Amino acid sequence: MKNIKLVFTFAILLSFVTFNSCNTEEIDDGLTTTVNPDTNSNPGDTTDNPDNTNNPTGSDGEITLYTIHGENIIKKQDYKVTGQDLAYQQDTKKHQELWSLTKKIIPANYRTKMNEFLIYNGDVSGSSGFVIETKSDLSKWQMGVAINFTNDQKELAYTIIHEFGHILTLNNDQVDAIINEANCSNYYTGEGCSKTASYINKLQSNYWADIWEEFIKAKDTETAMESFYTKYSSRYVTQYASTNPGEDIAEVFATFVTRNGGVNGSSIAEQKIQLMYNHNELIELRNYIRNNLGASSTSRSNKKSILPAPGSWKKANTFGNPNKSHCSHKK
Ligand SMILES: [Zn+2]
Repeated sequence: MKNIKLVFTFAILLSFVTFNSCNTEEIDDGLTTTVNPDTNSNPGDTTDNPDNTNNPTGSDGEITLYTIHGENIIKKQDYKVTGQDLAYQQDTKKHQELWSLTKKIIPANYRTKMNEFLIYNGDVSGSSGFVIETKSDLSKWQMGVAINFTNDQKELAYTIIHEFGHILTLNNDQVDAIINEANCSNYYTGEGCSKTASYINKLQSNYWADIWEEFIKAKDTETAMESFYTKYSSRYVTQYASTNPGEDIAEVFATFVTRNGGVNGSSIAEQKIQLMYNHNELIELRNYIRNNLGASSTSRSNKKSILPAPGSWKKANTFGNPNKSHCSHKK
């Protein structure tokens, strides 16, 4: 077992001041479990879990972990929390609302790739959402939603769309975890070797390969990445997208879904949007999400649209961790 605190500290040391969007990877309860010897002093506050003495103490703001069963989430465990986090933990109605929104964005046939849903406090990592594989073959994923960053419904929706973009492009149908980097002739995501016809391999081979060496040289320093992005900004839908191909495709997917209208022009950024339109199943996904979020062009009811504007989230103009192909703790 790795020591999560050492990993976290090391990750912080490696991070840049503004490049630290995905600075930790593990939110595995097995890695973070520590028994707090204190007895529960608020028995009235934990009616559904009267004795939480043995609950693990999360080191990354974990509050409540659910397992996903079809349409429903079932509590797997509460983490030992106090104060405001305890109030968040007890707000199970809010947890259900977050899950309901997630279901509006991720249809059932894609939710089969998810088996865990984590409610957490994003202050520790500075993240609003993340995904992490729960099976090494990439067949199952956990999604985390920061309950303290959920006041803006549109930004929350954008976060979930972006995070879904990672699961969509990094799951075992798209990426082969068995093939190591040395034997991978396609884009290696970090989790595995992308399949030839995968979305992310098409994106990387068509729109990154010619500048790959420049990216590799630039990715470890902030100033170099700023220069890289300035030079190639017409290739990216947001600055965050230039972090790496994994973040790029999540941002391209989110832009494809949230933008009213189709492709605008012929820049490489727009060619990436076209890549999405080239796949009918992605167009179906786009329609599913937009209808469920009450896109104004499709909604006939009085329900308020919570479809976010493309690239409207507050971290769009930042970089993430260039060494992580998915946002494990996205800022
Ligand atoms: Zn991300």
